[in-house]
Amino acid sequence: MDVLIGGAGLGGLSAALSLHAAGIEVRVVDAARELRMLGVGINILPHATRELVELGLADELVATGIPTTELIYHDRFGSRICGEPRGLAAGYRWPQYSIHRGELQLMLLHAVRRRLGADAVRTGLAVEAFECSDARVSVELRDRRTGRLVVESADVLVGADGINSAVRGQLHPDEGPAIWNGIHLWRGVTETEPFLDGRTMILSGADPVVVAYPVSRSAEQRGRSVVNWGVGARLGRPTHAPLGDWHYLGGLNDVLPHVADRCFDWLDVPALVRATPTIWEYPMVDRNPLPHWGTGRVSLLGDAAHPMYPFGSNGGTQAIIDGRVLAWELAHADDPVAGLAAYQDARRERMNALVLANRRGGPERVLHLVEQRAPNGFTRIEDVMTNDELDSIALRYRRTAGFDADTLNTAPSWNVVKD
Ligand SMILES: Cc1cc2nc3c(=O)[nH]c(=O)nc-3n(C[C@H](O)[C@H](O)[C@H](O)COP(=O)(O)OP(=O)(O)OC[C@H]3O[C@@H](n4cnc5c(N)ncnc54)[C@H](O)[C@@H]3O)c2cc1C
Repeated sequence: MDVLIGGAGLGGLSAALSLHAAGIEVRVVDAARELRMLGVGINILPHATRELVELGLADELVATGIPTTELIYHDRFGSRICGEPRGLAAGYRWPQYSIHRGELQLMLLHAVRRRLGADAVRTGLAVEAFECSDARVSVELRDRRTGRLVVESADVLVGADGINSAVRGQLHPDEGPAIWNGIHLWRGVTETEPFLDGRTMILSGADPVVVAYPVSRSAEQRGRSVVNWGVGARLGRPTHAPLGDWHYLGGLNDVLPHVADRCFDWLDVPALVRATPTIWEYPMVDRNPLPHWGTGRVSLLGDAAHPMYPFGSNGGTQAIIDGRVLAWELAHADDPVAGLAAYQDARRERMNALVLANRRGGPERVLHLVEQRAPNGFTRIEDVMTNDELDSIALRYRRTAGFDADTLNTAPSWNVVKD
């Protein structure tokens, strides 16, 4: 069996490693002419860390990311609502990593090229269309350097081509653009002094919401922190930023007013934002859950299959898990069509539920509840929310996303054992 993956993001590259480990021939094309270190911070939750560790990337993760110790929710005034230990500190057998998305992508790219060969990932080739027959799928690729159309065939095509996926577009031609929920996001990474224990992720307020966490092990080794920050605000005006485009430059003066009141003892958010070399603006978008991820020899993976709001840190995490499940199902099926059907059955409904859970605010819903109930702040959180209420929001979300510690720690591996 040979698989062609369209898209060399976190999903496509980890799928390539997973398929290769399962003994399946695989090649990857990406529309970008060059894969560079793009994006800002991202969190890889323990259920995805487990998959990367089982793919043999434990040392690279340790050398690159920050093993997150705690996630702390604050209201907009900086009062602590609650804190959750994360990763190993929460009893998982695998850490949570806060990491730069671009560094993680390049780490995966190098691993793919080392294991599968230098030509396993080809850039400047955009999937434009496909045609399925009973025997093969033929794929039209636009060579972005020459403008020429190239046709290749494979047993399986996997669309891992992100939120504006061309493969999804052909499978669901009436779908239209990504859906914006009215929230503007500004994001950046800034080198600064470590805050709290240097490994903590914080969230403050509901609207605007501020998130910050350190992402760089090499900065930590120098006694510094490279802090990823994000600010989300629901504004009464439309965004100029294109939907689903990660490259739109944001303006300092657009974001500063939303964080003017977030100067805390442990983190001066306005100073952090002012010191940021490049600010990105990104409308918060997702897409409706799909009734199917493909037909016959074609399927979707990662953001192409289930783009979701960034609540709960699950976008990259679930893309990585998709690839592992895909490889396992293809390796154990009688034929590629049955393998893709089994992959979809294993993943689609769970991912659809997660997309909808994130529309309800995911675990960050506690921030909204506190802001509604105590708009002027609180002295004792017990007067605003009970511990049971806080715990049940977090636990319900972990179960929907498939990472409560007991289940994950005892779940069988997706490693394919070869005869
Ligand atoms: C440039 C960029 C920056 C990002 N920055 C962040 C960030 O800072 N924080 C965060 O949380 N998430 C970020 N994301 C999104 C995050 O990486 C994804 O939500 C998540 O990792 C799911 O990964 P994915 O592989 O499914 O999709 P993506 O990471 O979006 O990767 C899709 C890949 O497909 C390629 N592609 C697109 N169209 C085609 C086509 N027609 N044919 C072939 N290839 C195609 C793209 O070039 C890209 O490499 C970013 C995504 C991109 C592309």
